[in-house]
Amino acid sequence: MPRHRCPDCDVGMEQVDYSTAGAAGATSRMRIDDPRTSGTLGVGGMTYLDAYLCADCGLVRFYAE
Ligand SMILES: [Zn+2]
Repeated sequence: MPRHRCPDCDVGMEQVDYSTAGAAGATSRMRIDDPRTSGTLGVGGMTYLDAYLCADCGLVRFYAE
C-alpha cells in the first residue's frame, strides 16, 4: 500500500533519492523548520524532507515525515 498517491493520476508514488546541487561529492537533503517538532527533545525542530515520485506523470512531492 503506497504511502502517498498522485493527486492527478491516483496511483501510488514511490520514494526516490534526491540531493541538492552542492559541493562535489557532497549530498545534502533539504530540511524545514518544522513547527510540529519545535521544542521537543531539543532537536531544534528541523525535519528532513522525503521525495516521492509519480512514475506516470513525473510529479515529485516533498513530505516532511
Ligand atoms: Zn501522476
